[in-house]
Amino acid sequence: MNSHLSQTDLDRWNRVKARLRAEVGEAVFSSWFTRMELEGIEGDTVRLSVATRFLRSWIQSHYAEKVLTCWQAEDSDITRIVLTVRTGLRQPAAAAAKPAEPACEAKAGAVNGVNGVEPGRPQPAAQAPARPGMHEALGGSPLDPRLNFETFVVGRSNELAYAAARQVAGVRRGETMLFNPLYIHAGVGLGKTHLLQSVTWAGNAQPDSRVLYLTAEKFMYSFVSALRAQNALAFKDVLRGINVLVIDDLQFLQGKQTQAEFSHTLNSLIDAGRQVVVAADRPPADLETVDERVRSRLAGGLVVEIGSLGEELRLQILNSRVAAARAHHPQFDVPPPVLSFIAKSVTHNGRDLEGALNRLLACSKLTGAPITLELAEREVRDLVRPPDNKKIKIEEIQRIVARHYNVSRGDLLSSRRTANVVRPRQIAMYLAKVLTLRSLPEIGRRFGGRDHTTVLHAVRKIEHLVGNDTTLANEIETLKRQLQE
Ligand code: ADP
Ligand code: MG
Repeated sequence: MNSHLSQTDLDRWNRVKARLRAEVGEAVFSSWFTRMELEGIEGDTVRLSVATRFLRSWIQSHYAEKVLTCWQAEDSDITRIVLTVRTGLRQPAAAAAKPAEPACEAKAGAVNGVNGVEPGRPQPAAQAPARPGMHEALGGSPLDPRLNFETFVVGRSNELAYAAARQVAGVRRGETMLFNPLYIHAGVGLGKTHLLQSVTWAGNAQPDSRVLYLTAEKFMYSFVSALRAQNALAFKDVLRGINVLVIDDLQFLQGKQTQAEFSHTLNSLIDAGRQVVVAADRPPADLETVDERVRSRLAGGLVVEIGSLGEELRLQILNSRVAAARAHHPQFDVPPPVLSFIAKSVTHNGRDLEGALNRLLACSKLTGAPITLELAEREVRDLVRPPDNKKIKIEEIQRIVARHYNVSRGDLLSSRRTANVVRPRQIAMYLAKVLTLRSLPEIGRRFGGRDHTTVLHAVRKIEHLVGNDTTLANEIETLKRQLQE
């Protein structure tokens, strides 16, 4: 990021990105815009940069207008966007030495995404599961036909969540609910929405089943607008008339009245023997904006976490994506070494995998050139996690954190629960998670044999605090710097 940019510029840029994300949708945004950077604002001109020439031409020919209007919504003086390619120096070390010649230039014509549709734009599938119309009539959030059980790849990190979702989707009216509510949590891009929509499609394909999928935002919005139109009762009737309620991204549920309504709906559905399925980015106990009674009700069913996608699972997902894409683009051929390169180097997030394949597909469609390892390295390098410069050891983190807070390393590993030890311990766990590649269970073991959920709780706690507490944020930055020296 550029040092001469003011905080106001950066804030404005963040708002422009948020607008852009809302306009083009998550999948398109993550394919093309995640690593776009603001270089400067001069008079009526905004300068932005991206990592490759291909990205630049693609954005220029497809999204130039959008980017400009999003800027103008923030600042009406802006009339021009200049898009440049960042020079080798600022790119991740692995790819920096490569010549910057264009891999392929975006010329014209629509290129379809890896699933045979334009990236991020859900299209009706050829054999769309039954009765999407009814779901819409109930006011459900839009469903993507690609997100179904058949396209979900099962591995160790998600098999439990998958099995529970399947079980829940197969329950008939009047049968006993085994897991109610079913609560699935995981970080971004790990397949929560995919599983929840799968439950919805599968449930609605059954003759006497009514499954409603709502994002928490849609739930709030529907309820608030029903209140305004004074037909909240009708809205409640709709909710009570369904037999499976699926709520995505519950961490966004806010507001006293909608919370109360959600709590009421949850209780009455569960008590009436209806299934509730919920996804969020954290465990129930960490849903700070949700009130205590709802949290404990949610925690009272089955709570499952989807872990990060391991390399093997990433490879399987890529393979199945390529196979799906080939149904529409038979010439799309990604050699196995390229797939293993992507599986190895692109982060554990399913969205980045999709983004990487979308770019290769766009390249292949535009130029007809074969997809080589070199081309892949060049095109996806900004999605590649930069290599760790230095291996940081957990012991060292414990030592430095203990010293900083004037406790002993033994205190951090002990079971003492006094505040002067608990917070430093949480900070050390957090640093172990963000600065090393160790898994949560492994970190737990190294902290006196604690459970991985304790580590997860610590990490989330600190992440949350850092957002509100600049003193703590600065302390953590200082600790990080010491460790990385
Ligand atoms: P979340 O809702 O957890 O943020 P999504 O369900 O939107 O994540 O998943 C992000 C992308 O990764 C989607 O394109 C999804 O289809 C894909 N994905 C994630 N997990 C899997 C999986 N196990 N099998 C196939 N695709 C997956
Ligand atoms: Mg999601």
